[in-house]
Amino acid sequence: MASHLANIFGTEQDRVNCSFYYKIGACRHGDRCSRKHIRPPFSQTILLPNVYHNPAHDPVCKLTEKELQEGFDAVYEDLYIELAKFGHLLELHVCDNVGDHLIGNVYARYEWETEAQAAVDNLNDRWYAGRPLYAELSPVTDFRESCCRQNENGECNRGGFCNFMHLRLASKDLVRQLRHGQRVERKLHPPTAQGGEDGNPENERAKKEAPAQSVAETERIDGPENDCKFC
Ligand SMILES: [Zn+2]
Ligand SMILES: [Zn+2]
Repeated sequence: MASHLANIFGTEQDRVNCSFYYKIGACRHGDRCSRKHIRPPFSQTILLPNVYHNPAHDPVCKLTEKELQEGFDAVYEDLYIELAKFGHLLELHVCDNVGDHLIGNVYARYEWETEAQAAVDNLNDRWYAGRPLYAELSPVTDFRESCCRQNENGECNRGGFCNFMHLRLASKDLVRQLRHGQRVERKLHPPTAQGGEDGNPENERAKKEAPAQSVAETERIDGPENDCKFC
């Protein structure tokens, strides 16, 4: 029985725990969900809900596709550079859904749980684009499970109201450049101690050290921090 429960934990067959919360980190019923949303005490993944506001969702938006992509790339770059200050950023995803529980959600996955915790602790005191940020540890581990496959094939008929993630993608060149910047930065300034094989919560490196300026930031063509929306 116990192993059966373990096998179905967080799946659709689980009558106690919400499969949407476990897979996607957010469920349309929110606090009123009849199934449990148990926040993980440790996780490599963080969620920043409702950060990205896509101007295309505004019915009077007159921006071209190119301008929309440039605007999104600037947001993605801001987020990547800021989030990489807390540790080794493995994944950064931004939702383009319009449903209340997924709109503008940003998910970041780190190599170490201590890095994710440091990011949550810091970001809860921060603002982005004039709005206060809220950050939490998220149970999402595998984004292939969270993303809508039909959307990836251009076939999702639920559009932005889909309950699986529809990701907004940054330009490939930008992503490549940001990842390269992080690699170079980590080579130039290797972390003094990792989160530890054992995920040692005593390790406070990311919390106490002043974040080093990332190489990606110094390499920005348009000059550092000229329009970064973090404060
Ligand atoms: Zn739920
Ligand atoms: Zn979908």
